Amino acid sequence: MTAQTAFDLIFRNALLRSSVTPVDLGVKGGRITAIESRLACEAIEIDVGGRLALPGFVDTHIHLDKACLLERCGHIHGTLGDAIRAVSAMKRDFGIDDVYARGAKVLERAIVHGTTRMRTHVEIDPRIGLRSFEAVKALKRDYAWAIDLSLCVFPQEGLTNDPGAEELLIQALRQGADAIGGCPYTDPDPNAHLARIFELAEQFDLDIDLHLDFDLDPSWSHLDEVVRQTEQRNYQGCVAIGHVTKLSAMPPDRLKAATAQLARAGIAVTVLPATDLYLMGREATHNAPRGLTLAHKLADGGIVCSVATNNVLNPFTPFGDASLLRMANFYANVAHASVGDFDTCLDLVTELPARLMNLGDYGIAVGKRADLVVLDIKDSRFAIAELPDILMGFKDGRQTFERLPAKLLHPRIERRPQ
Ligand SMILES: [Zn+2]
Repeated sequence: MTAQTAFDLIFRNALLRSSVTPVDLGVKGGRITAIESRLACEAIEIDVGGRLALPGFVDTHIHLDKACLLERCGHIHGTLGDAIRAVSAMKRDFGIDDVYARGAKVLERAIVHGTTRMRTHVEIDPRIGLRSFEAVKALKRDYAWAIDLSLCVFPQEGLTNDPGAEELLIQALRQGADAIGGCPYTDPDPNAHLARIFELAEQFDLDIDLHLDFDLDPSWSHLDEVVRQTEQRNYQGCVAIGHVTKLSAMPPDRLKAATAQLARAGIAVTVLPATDLYLMGREATHNAPRGLTLAHKLADGGIVCSVATNNVLNPFTPFGDASLLRMANFYANVAHASVGDFDTCLDLVTELPARLMNLGDYGIAVGKRADLVVLDIKDSRFAIAELPDILMGFKDGRQTFERLPAKLLHPRIERRPQ
């Protein structure tokens, strides 16, 4: 037992993924300053009871600005094009307070489901202007006590075909956007679209996170161009691509080649199971394809991958609770993940997305920020299989939420006199 005196808080009996037995964590000034088997110190103590502690879930891809639109949609459409058109029409009427309120609802659900870091994609174009951007910036400020929100601005409806979109994008970049995205599949000149996004990223020194492709035709792809731009500009480790459903439609030899290409270029991949499964395979009358790229296999092939939320309760995905543990469970089930893959599936919503976002201060280790969520389970291997309750969360050493365990209320057994 080591005598230490300088902690604000001690977590006792926390099971870490890296430890065989529970350990104590000392926190000072919002950082983890000690990890030992038994810390001796006078400080506020929280006994975790041998349960699993994680540094929080990391959602790399969510759209807070267009979440919670089901009440305005009439009927849900069905194809990707229908969803884009439906939201395009609705967003002309989005107000700052409106986007803020819908985004806050999703953000609060994400927080109580244990998410501590999030990259939200924000649409910028002449229909919405900078209203969504302003609202999400306010969310970033107002919820910083519980979650780090990163804003990735992007033109969902194309760039070269949408006069005024680029000027607005540059304004958002000047006003503090954290990353830039693109959507080449909605642009009639996808290569020019990609080139411009890379140029702006270089100019503002930002990471890139693209909506790359969204269909099941493996005969063509923007992948080669993204790899070319990434290598030419030395952007390895700073580019992510989302959906990439074409990878799910490639035969094994072509997938192997694409995996090697992505690994060499240091390009990360984000899979969005709820939307990919909802929108892909619509033309099939039976035996509908899954359209889900296998992130855990790509991760085994050396690619930084994440599984993320994408859309919540809108025409792209009329479901959602912003729970990444549930999303990892959903992904693993549909992706035919075996028990031996469960650890990687948990990585897909924790360690790997933190690497995708280049978050150097993430993780349970000395010197890292004291972000911690406690799951009601004592074996990390089965967290995504069992979906345990998430009992409490901490941001920079300060508690952000608690969830009391459910209690069974057994009926009292009345014994009648004989
Ligand atoms: Zn998206």
